[in-house]
Amino acid sequence: MSGNDAAFERALRIIPGGVSSPVRAFGSVGGSPVFIARAAGPYSYDVDGREYVDLVGSWGPALLGHAHPEVVAAVQAAAARGLSFGAPTVAEAELAEAISARVPLAQKVRLVSTGTEACMTAVRLARGATGRDLLVKFAGCYHGHSDALLAAAGSGLATGGLPGSAGVTAAATAQTLVVPYNDADAIRALFAERGGEIAAVITEPAAANMGIVPPEPGFNALLWELTAAHGALLIYDEVLTGFRVSASGWWGLEGGVEPDLFTFGKVVGGGMPLAALGGRAGLMDMLAPLGPVYQAGTLSGNPLATAAGIATLRLADAGVYERVDSASAQLSTEVSAAFTRAGVPHRLQRAGSLFSVFIGLESPVRDYATALRQDTGAFRAFFHAMLDAGVALPPSAYEAWFLSAAHDQHALDQVVSALPVAAAAAASALSSS
Ligand SMILES: *Cc1c(COP(=O)(O)O)cnc(C)c1O
Repeated sequence: MSGNDAAFERALRIIPGGVSSPVRAFGSVGGSPVFIARAAGPYSYDVDGREYVDLVGSWGPALLGHAHPEVVAAVQAAAARGLSFGAPTVAEAELAEAISARVPLAQKVRLVSTGTEACMTAVRLARGATGRDLLVKFAGCYHGHSDALLAAAGSGLATGGLPGSAGVTAAATAQTLVVPYNDADAIRALFAERGGEIAAVITEPAAANMGIVPPEPGFNALLWELTAAHGALLIYDEVLTGFRVSASGWWGLEGGVEPDLFTFGKVVGGGMPLAALGGRAGLMDMLAPLGPVYQAGTLSGNPLATAAGIATLRLADAGVYERVDSASAQLSTEVSAAFTRAGVPHRLQRAGSLFSVFIGLESPVRDYATALRQDTGAFRAFFHAMLDAGVALPPSAYEAWFLSAAHDQHALDQVVSALPVAAAAAASALSSS
């Protein structure tokens, strides 16, 4: 038995499904998850010593590649000074300033530990500030696993085939209204009917948890216009896109919209558990201890996590974004070409440097209902052929391929050379519908 199989058997005996987060379990692609022993730059290594070109990137955080020496050194230095104090540190203000410098609408910032907490808190703050109950989200957008936001929530749930989640009461989601993404008529109609009751619209300004589904031109501006006109708040969930698609996230890349609140995570923690929410000072000051909206966390603003975040943002300069953009442009073009040569109908979609492929679909995918029609069986065959060739893709057809500034030409060439065989595997697995 391989070390990997032994690791999985051991984990299965003591951890539900053997994993600490469900998509890692390979549920939608089959087979055993790869147990990682270490990672460096664009590569990860499993417990048997096998090397993979890693396109999981910790599901987003690894913008600089794995174990960047300067980030590791910053974390080691912080660790030597103490792991957690339960008291404020100067580093928290430094990281909050770095966030605000990139996204000036985040005049004040609160640090938390996960994207889930950031979104949950943003929603509570919006409800507290407006005195209204209703929350609007879009089908296929994921905002973490808090109860109110687990309605039609995209990748992890689509992957698991779960309709929502057991244990979330009808009451918890009754005040969450779900609208199709990119559906201007539906959101207009909803505001016309119930605008005065809506506390906030929360959106992924470029959707990346149902595969990549970019906003149609004017869609985010419409959300801003409607929320502003009806006294509701607009929450940009940039946990995935923030500090990844540009130095100032999707907000800076697209421009023209002024959301009330932002949530950040993934890249902002540089691989450590750290996330944040930010917005206008007057709004953010409604959080405890200044205001009536409660939020807290024993490990919030943890010194190791803030050190990793500060180092990551400091290193993520224009050159980093150029490298990620050009790696993404090159690889996405090669992926599409390989599928075309193998006769696999597909739709490749991009949002900045993020991209994903919908196998079996050819016209634009603009919402979740369409994304669900992709051929996940063909993706499964493609995924395993890539893995056999030493390329680790996210184990879900609903995820972006995560590139980093460490993916150099050699690593990209390794991925490209694996494509023909994998695309052929997808071709033979295409469901004949
Ligand atoms: C990953 C993600 C979250 C949740 O973040 P966690 O740190 O996993 O809790 C929220 N929103 C978006 C858009 C995400 O991609």
